[in-house]
Amino acid sequence: MNNYAQSLVERLESRTEPKSLFIQAVKEVFESLDPIISENPDIEAYSILERISEPERQVMFRVCWTDDNGKVQVNRGYRVGFSSVLGPYKGGLRFHPTVRLDVIKFLAFEQIFKNSLTGLSIGGGKGGSDFNPKGKSDGEIMRFCQAFMSELYHFLGENTDVPAGDIGVGSREIGYLFGQYKRLTKRFEQGVLTGKQVGLGGSLVRKEATGFGAVYFAQEMLKKKKDSLQDKVCVVSGSGNVALYCAKKLKDLGAKVVAMSDSSGSIHDPNGVDLDLVRSIKEVERGRIDSYTVRRHGSKFFPEKKVWQFKCDLAFPCATQNELNQEDLETLIENGCKGVVEGANMPTTPEAVHVLQEKDMLFAPGKAANAGGVAVSALEMQQNASLQSWSFREVDKRLQEIMASIHDDCVHFAEKYHRPNNYVFGANVAGFLRVADAVKAYGVI
Ligand code: NDP
Repeated sequence: MNNYAQSLVERLESRTEPKSLFIQAVKEVFESLDPIISENPDIEAYSILERISEPERQVMFRVCWTDDNGKVQVNRGYRVGFSSVLGPYKGGLRFHPTVRLDVIKFLAFEQIFKNSLTGLSIGGGKGGSDFNPKGKSDGEIMRFCQAFMSELYHFLGENTDVPAGDIGVGSREIGYLFGQYKRLTKRFEQGVLTGKQVGLGGSLVRKEATGFGAVYFAQEMLKKKKDSLQDKVCVVSGSGNVALYCAKKLKDLGAKVVAMSDSSGSIHDPNGVDLDLVRSIKEVERGRIDSYTVRRHGSKFFPEKKVWQFKCDLAFPCATQNELNQEDLETLIENGCKGVVEGANMPTTPEAVHVLQEKDMLFAPGKAANAGGVAVSALEMQQNASLQSWSFREVDKRLQEIMASIHDDCVHFAEKYHRPNNYVFGANVAGFLRVADAVKAYGVI
């Protein structure tokens, strides 16, 4: 890594917790920037890396709510506004017991470059809480969302900060959050949250966008190699929003998904996973994935095992960060896997990414491959602002165009700097340059 970038990483490390996910994300971006920093002395002269790696603002707050037994519960809420140079802070809210400031900072940092890659006017932010939605009643979810929004609403606005969903936050939670925002502000400010239900100003295809977008990205990568998804055997980790719609689009395009998972373990179905059944278990019943095998002959459940143990051509990590490590990757390679496409944020560990690159395998980093979700969120903001509602076909077409354009930008920068097939490099450089230009253009603010 370039000396300037390295000394900054060391300074950030000295102020951050050990094994920080934020530092992992920063290193991954900075490692790609060597040639850019060398040919552009302004980056150091204007302290661009320092300004990009320090959040503009971080809010932490207490969230008090009452459970069904009348007991007062206390959680911690976060919102990090990392960069607003390209537009209002934009990025989801995560409700999961593992959430802490470092997790939100890493997600918000990644979001800056992802949002830049879309070419749309959106800055980078992220938020969430250590609240665990699992096993909570609908009333408890609503009361938590209301309490969370009561603390957060001061900081939001359709031109300031626009949250959406992430792990544990879907259209139900967005509905409760929007309702409380409307109650507190007395404003029907539709564009302040995205991922709303379609009848409440949400965009068609938003629900599907991240998963569909990852598959469109994979399709572009394969097309470049004169290949396609037809008959490819795939494994998809997770069974939430991203995983479900990634699996659906894979199936639509002729691939076969043989394994999915949740945090309790994996299911393997050699005949192809029945996605309607998984959706019904996870979205309607809010149940556990092991119940799939009771209803589907020929499938098996493997408690606490990951999907990477199953033979496949392509792997799609769509659950959470650092879920695919070097050992998992070696198993995948032994079983003939040819590539990894990230639907989740930073799901592949740096060691595993290194092996993928050494072996020149297909690898689509999340900040490019999963940008479809935020891209359609920005399209939702556009529809809200113009009081329009576009058709499924129209939004899906725009999503495909955006994913193809992100793919081409990655390829362009990877080839320009003689790193063909290195989508990590291409995505980091393409995302960074747009942000760096804006930071410089605004002067010292
Ligand atoms: P969901 O909450 O809908 O689903 C998450 C899935 O991952 C569930 O199956 C969950 O299992 C599993 N999971 C979560 N945490 C863990 C863990 N620690 N170990 C094992 N499995 C886990 O979330 P999303 O689908 O929305 O998000 C998935 C990933 O995609 C995240 O990395 C998110 O940041 C990223 N992403 C999401 C976008 C979106 O539009 N929603 C946009 C871009 C990126 P269980 O049900 O057992 O908890």
